[in-house]
Amino acid sequence: MTATDIALVGVGKIARDQHVPSIGRSEAFNLAATVSSHGGVEGVENHATLEGLLDTRPDIPAVALCMPPQNRFAAAKAALSAGRHVLLEKPPGATVAEVHALKALAERKGVTLFATWHSRFAAGVEPARRWLSNKTLRHVRVTWKEDVRRWHPGQKWIWQPGGLGVFDPGINALSIVTAILPFPVHMTTAELKFPENLEAPIAAALAMTGNGNVAVEAEFDWRHTGSQTWTIEVDTKEGPLVLADGGATLAVADEPPSKAPDREYDAIYDRFAELLTDRQIDADLTPLVHVADAFMLGKRIVVEPFFD
Ligand code: NAP
Repeated sequence: MTATDIALVGVGKIARDQHVPSIGRSEAFNLAATVSSHGGVEGVENHATLEGLLDTRPDIPAVALCMPPQNRFAAAKAALSAGRHVLLEKPPGATVAEVHALKALAERKGVTLFATWHSRFAAGVEPARRWLSNKTLRHVRVTWKEDVRRWHPGQKWIWQPGGLGVFDPGINALSIVTAILPFPVHMTTAELKFPENLEAPIAAALAMTGNGNVAVEAEFDWRHTGSQTWTIEVDTKEGPLVLADGGATLAVADEPPSKAPDREYDAIYDRFAELLTDRQIDADLTPLVHVADAFMLGKRIVVEPFFD
């Protein structure tokens, strides 16, 4: 197999922690360049701007966009317009409409657009979807509580409009819920807590419903300093299902929990390679729609200032 050259755009935490190692392990991709204002990755050609990369390296057919969501649309539009295949980190954009526009552009240009949801590739997610597919669901509870100081130190963009605040991790939970439930859900009420000194929520309580009257409740909190919790509990007539550790650990009914090694980003690049073979578009916007609906419906509560 000939590896496809790819450029990483925005070399921050997720690019270093996951994209660079996964591309390094992939037989399908070769990290040919970066676009970074901070020098990029040692030993890899770096460009100061995306325009510079697109102009001077027409031979690099694919880009992975790993910058904050507020900048993603302009970059994706430029790359797609230049005929490049595009992988989008989550969330795929700062608004729903801009991602619709990107899908239409990718279609017109005949190139691949992949809106990744890394949590959907966690080891327990697909087995959970299969197990739930023929069960009678009664209730779903999502608990996503973590310490923003530990996971996002110094990241200003998460607190700015479009940065999503606590929905930055919360959208991962929504990406799993929307993948494993055998029916669609919609938001009925939402409560968003905004620190008085910040422009994005630090906590949220959501109520959703689907399949008639199955309640899906979610609690996201970024002020949590105890044990970090990323859990989805589904009560079914046939027994409980618990997905813990962000989808990595699955326990169903009376069986002992199972956990497999993390290969979320390796699986993302496998999937991107698959999409490239016939220039497919894979861009499910459902998790982003739920976040948008939470902002539309959400009761806004101002809470004490927060400083990291
Ligand atoms: P980050 O550490 O703040 O890095 C973002 C990088 O994007 C920066 O280093 C910079 O790259 C570039 N950038 C371009 N415009 C920027 C701007 N206006 N402000 C800040 N950076 C800018 O962010 P991250 O944690 O990697 O997150 C990036 C995206 O990945 C987000 O959408 C996030 O939701 C997603 N994600 C993050 C994680 C995680 O664990 N952190 C996990 C999964 C997904 P250069 O310095 O190279 O110019």
